[in-house]
Amino acid sequence: MPGTWERVTPLVLLVIVAAALWATLDLVAMLVFCSLMLLLLAIHHWRHLDTLDKWLQSEELSPSGLPDSSGKWGDVSTRLGRLMREQRRSEEQLRSELERLRRAVSAMPEGVVILDDLDRIEWCNPVAEKHLGINAQRDTGQHIAHLVRQTQFNEYLDSRHYSEPLVIRQPRSQDLTLSLQFVPYGNKQKLLVSRDVTRLERVHAMRRDFVANVSHELRTPLTVIGGFLETLAQDDASDPETSKWALGLMTDQTQRMQHLVEDLLTLSRLEDSENQVREQTVDIPKMLRELCREAESLSAGRHRIRLDLGTRTKLLGNTSDLHSAFSNLISNAIRYTADGGRITLSWKILDTHGVFSVQDSGIGIEPEHIPRLTERFYRVDRGRSRETGGTGLGLAIVKHVLTGHQARLEITSELGKGSCFSAWFPAVRLIPNPASQS
Ligand code: ADP
Repeated sequence: MPGTWERVTPLVLLVIVAAALWATLDLVAMLVFCSLMLLLLAIHHWRHLDTLDKWLQSEELSPSGLPDSSGKWGDVSTRLGRLMREQRRSEEQLRSELERLRRAVSAMPEGVVILDDLDRIEWCNPVAEKHLGINAQRDTGQHIAHLVRQTQFNEYLDSRHYSEPLVIRQPRSQDLTLSLQFVPYGNKQKLLVSRDVTRLERVHAMRRDFVANVSHELRTPLTVIGGFLETLAQDDASDPETSKWALGLMTDQTQRMQHLVEDLLTLSRLEDSENQVREQTVDIPKMLRELCREAESLSAGRHRIRLDLGTRTKLLGNTSDLHSAFSNLISNAIRYTADGGRITLSWKILDTHGVFSVQDSGIGIEPEHIPRLTERFYRVDRGRSRETGGTGLGLAIVKHVLTGHQARLEITSELGKGSCFSAWFPAVRLIPNPASQS
């Protein structure tokens, strides 16, 4: 930048020349000279102003396009250039922060839609696109109610009360349950936040069903016991035979409730993730010999029960859980097989897996019921299950125990011919017995 002396020098020279003209010629010559100089100065400033004006009108205001001049105009150009560079820098910064913010919102597990003051879409993240079936590029500027066409949603939007979210089925896929909530901000703008609550809703529904089922299961025996107690209380002189019969039935119902509570407690213990399974080496052949004896006593000679031990391999697992799962499968085979039927328990190595199977020649199961058998309280024949003391929780317990052992349950069955329930344990759980040949 030129110094003060350099700036003042032309002016001093002009004054000296003007004074010399006045002294040597006359006043008119000096005035003509001064007018000429002023005209030149005006042209000089006009040229610079014109260049600056053109630069300001140009579309791309780049600092490099600034007029290159000296003197005061040079100072103006330098300052403008500095201002431009600073503005560019802060614009860049703002842009990259906005981009970072967008990336962060895009990565959120929730859907986010930014709505303007007239509820038109300004921007949305990919999760919102998936949840609401909208497209960020195509639908920008569209009214949200034109895209989410559900009466409940429109009512929620119009209500202006957004303290609680709205839970709806996804407009296009009924398998998805969404929680939607508007969050007002700024000048009448809104965020629409969507969350996938399908799993949560399923858990709520399961809990509701479970409570309803347990209440139903307990109500029947309680009604029977209550009825008998009332009769006995009213009829002081009831004959001992009737009282004995009633007491016998009440004992049955009490036992039924006891079994139900025991199974419920087993299930809740198995479901408790904090309840670490204690694992040990389980001697499956030994356990099956015991279970076979228990089965014979339960069947009381009504069935032909056979034990087929194809291997002496042991298993890494929890003894009491496995005992409970296997005995549930065996007791089902006995309960659902008519007198004279055959039941075979086996323990084999198949495809590197340890496989425990219970094969019966019982009533069998229709194919459509098979996928649902491990649901709590699911029964094919409610009456038969109850008559034989079933709680409807046996296979749910089996499934939990097997899942805890990374094993799977396989069910094959033919109506009227019999069923086979097999538990397949992974090779990592098998502990070969040195004396085993399999
Ligand atoms: P339950 O206490 O009713 O037996 P489970 O959970 O053990 O409950 O079994 C669920 C249903 O599966 C039973 O009600 C029955 O209909 C069917 N089931 C289980 N095992 C057998 C089997 N071996 N043969 C035929 N049906 C069976």
